[in-house]
Amino acid sequence: MLRSEGTGDTTGATAGTVAPSPTGGTFESRDPATGTVVGVFPVHDTAAVDAAVARARTAAERWAALGFGERRLRLAAYRGHLARRLHELADLVHRENGKPRADAVLEIALAVDHLAWAGAHARRTLGPRRVHPGLLAVNHAAHLEYQPLGVVGVIGPWNYPVFTPMGSIAYALAAGNAVVFKPSEFTPAVGAWLAEAWRAAVPDVPDALQVVTGLGETGAALCRAGVGKLAFTGSAPTGRTVMAACAETLTPVLMELGGKDAMIVDDDADVAAAADAAVWGAMSNAGQTCIGIERVYATAAVHDRFVAEVVTRVEALQPGSDADASYGPMTMAGQTDVVRRHLADAVAAGGTVATGGTVDGGYVAPTVLLDVPETSAAVREETFGPTLTITRVADAEEALTRANDSSMGLGGSVFSGSRDRGLDLARRMRSGMTSVNAVLTFASVPALPFGGVGESGFGRIHGEDGLREFTRAKAVTVKRAPLPVDFMSFGRPAGAADALARVLRLVHGRHR
Ligand code: NDP
Repeated sequence: MLRSEGTGDTTGATAGTVAPSPTGGTFESRDPATGTVVGVFPVHDTAAVDAAVARARTAAERWAALGFGERRLRLAAYRGHLARRLHELADLVHRENGKPRADAVLEIALAVDHLAWAGAHARRTLGPRRVHPGLLAVNHAAHLEYQPLGVVGVIGPWNYPVFTPMGSIAYALAAGNAVVFKPSEFTPAVGAWLAEAWRAAVPDVPDALQVVTGLGETGAALCRAGVGKLAFTGSAPTGRTVMAACAETLTPVLMELGGKDAMIVDDDADVAAAADAAVWGAMSNAGQTCIGIERVYATAAVHDRFVAEVVTRVEALQPGSDADASYGPMTMAGQTDVVRRHLADAVAAGGTVATGGTVDGGYVAPTVLLDVPETSAAVREETFGPTLTITRVADAEEALTRANDSSMGLGGSVFSGSRDRGLDLARRMRSGMTSVNAVLTFASVPALPFGGVGESGFGRIHGEDGLREFTRAKAVTVKRAPLPVDFMSFGRPAGAADALARVLRLVHGRHR
């Protein structure tokens, strides 16, 4: 970072960031509510990114050699630092992303919780263990462990600039990797703050977490830098570009992409609770949530009541940048064009606006759309704004069919009066995560994996799967004693195969 109001630094490249490239130039990040410059940052070019990755390789050796226990202590120091300076970071998130401070505090709290879980569970999930050697290697000890990949590249979006990248960073670090993080060009100050905090909290391995800043080209350079894995969170179109760049070096990828998440409201649902959750799921963070609710399918039995409850709540919302605001401006001015297009398309296709439907500068009014055809952009594409379509369906089965008729499948929600019925619908929803009688809760449970299906991506962050995502499984066998007959030797006797066949028949042949 060259200059950031968030840290008070005005002098030059600071700890936690990479020295500016002499040829790369700089860029500014701005407060979306006021246009005020939040910070000026170097555009790191390929040489600067490669240098960061080279430093990370050295740090990765030291970090891995520390072992689970020592890493856990340092991850605890990091989360302690974040917790103590929570308000400073929340203020920076508020200014650079535009979301209310209270939402920023919630986001940071979630990230801290994930850091704690990842640190505490890494050894048990990844550490060395003995497994059964099986019949043919009965005289061997079989060892399994999950080893770090070395350096993990993390490319993150701007909508949850702490929580989202931390879903990769925390788990990659806990697994023993060093991380080079490229934040979105809209939230570089938050990214730089996170890396500075690491250096302050973990001074003996400062390069285990570094940040490189810049635009898409900087991210592309990270893809080509030969990292052990590239964890990408962002849109599907950019994800394709990232995969293509990573393919050049056969760099494995984790893809956390967009969503078009649906909520099902069944006949016997608590309609008021469903409406409350739908409004939060759709409108919080100005709808810029990958697991935000964008579509609701309500059964005919509850549809009209549900719409009324939603509209009442939505009309009480107040977008703005003051302390009482329900949500802030769109972080990225260009996103209002997408929202406008979806609104116009929905209305042109015969949909009606129950409330909202206007865009004023960077602020989109909280909007509820009814009777929007399933073929329209507002139903099929990610809107990423404070809008919600509500569609009447005959029953929950039709709701599920429609919910699953999407190229994306990230999260989702089911409201049902029966826990068993809700669980059954949730299991059959084509998505990586589903909450029953709530929204978004799966993201706050560190033990649960997070990730999508279809065009929402592949791979998992969070939980044991998230730890393993940043490792390679290592298998070792150790011979303990010779067998009378060694089947894997040219010296085996002529009758060895027949003897093996007899043993196999004894052990497996009785199964029909
Ligand atoms: P983008 O896809 O536009 O950008 C994501 C990141 O990729 C940014 O850091 C961006 O940098 C970088 N990037 C852009 N071009 C390239 C390139 N050629 N090579 C490498 N990196 C590149 O997404 P947004 O930032 O707009 O984020 C919103 C999207 O993220 C939504 O679709 C949302 O659903 C999704 N998302 C998914 C989540 C999940 O967990 N599944 C969580 C949160 C968001 P720059 O900004 O500098 O261009």
